[in-house]
Amino acid sequence: MKFSRMLLRWPASAFFRKPYTCNIKITQRCNLRCHFCGLWKLSDREEMSISDYSRLADLLKKIGIARVVITGGEPLLRDDSEEIVGLFARKGFSTTLLTNGTLLDRDRMARLSRNGLSDIGISLDTLDSDTFDAICGSRNQLDHVLDAIRSARSIHRKGFVMVMITISHRNIELAPDIVRFVTQELDCWAIINPVNITQAPEAVLTADRGEVEFPLQAETVDRVYDRFAAMKRAGAKIMVSSRFLADSRTYLKSGNSAWNCHAGISYFTIFSDGSLAPCSDLPAVANVRTMTPEDFGSNAFRDACDTHRMACPGCIFSCWREASYLLHDPRIWPERFRDFLRTLIRKG
Ligand code: SF4
Ligand code: SF4
Repeated sequence: MKFSRMLLRWPASAFFRKPYTCNIKITQRCNLRCHFCGLWKLSDREEMSISDYSRLADLLKKIGIARVVITGGEPLLRDDSEEIVGLFARKGFSTTLLTNGTLLDRDRMARLSRNGLSDIGISLDTLDSDTFDAICGSRNQLDHVLDAIRSARSIHRKGFVMVMITISHRNIELAPDIVRFVTQELDCWAIINPVNITQAPEAVLTADRGEVEFPLQAETVDRVYDRFAAMKRAGAKIMVSSRFLADSRTYLKSGNSAWNCHAGISYFTIFSDGSLAPCSDLPAVANVRTMTPEDFGSNAFRDACDTHRMACPGCIFSCWREASYLLHDPRIWPERFRDFLRTLIRKG
């Protein structure tokens, strides 16, 4: 039912400017301090209640959203995150949870799965404990996160278990080994994201240029991305498209992150206090607690989204880019269809 809803909503979004997916930050609090993220600096924002989310789900259903991505901050810091997932899943949304994995154990994974979670994404940028803690500002968390991924893989059999790898100067040399470990030994899907560096004034999901070496050495990037491309051609469980891998390669070598995005048209972000922005790195243009379905089609809403989007210098987030490519770039459709058939054959 959820997949058919996604399929049915696709033409409306691809051809008629209807929103398709949204990212919901149920908290901005986080127990980690990753070097490429400033979301936790918004941690004092109010957090909506379960009844607010029930109203939000009805609103999103009325405007035709097919997929919601529950994230944070760290969403599992909320004791009711499983309940929030269940609420959206019961209302028919494809519901994905993104987590850093440090608070995920077998019990919580089982509850999420029982409550109707579609897919789960867990971050893992290295296989070395000291490097993990250096990247995430944590202490001895790697083993716990690996256990969380293994639990997810063994318990959650009906959806994708995705491991999100952020590429930076700290891990690029070992990134093919991480992808091999994730796809073969953990038997999960790898999502390979370059670290995002942007000049967008409101950006929170961006690395401080002083913290990272950027752009990276062209020769290293080419060597590593040639390996990713070969692994994908050979059928490795790499979820990002070939187009995204090619765009990532260009960006990591040149810093060029400009692209034709659809923030505020095909997708948007909702923060924990209900404020809505075209994407996580743009200012809020409305608040879902006071919005009606008609507001999403209003000229005022569209103009506000368009103004911010057009002023944005770009980004390299796979979530936004892949949503745009899937909806608006026919060149990637054959590859996506082939990937989809492969997932059916493998059953996750
Ligand atoms: S990237 Fe995720 S896990 Fe890391 S500090 Fe930001 S919200 Fe927390
Ligand atoms: S390019 Fe689009 S999705 Fe990316 S940060 Fe800018 S407005 Fe957001």
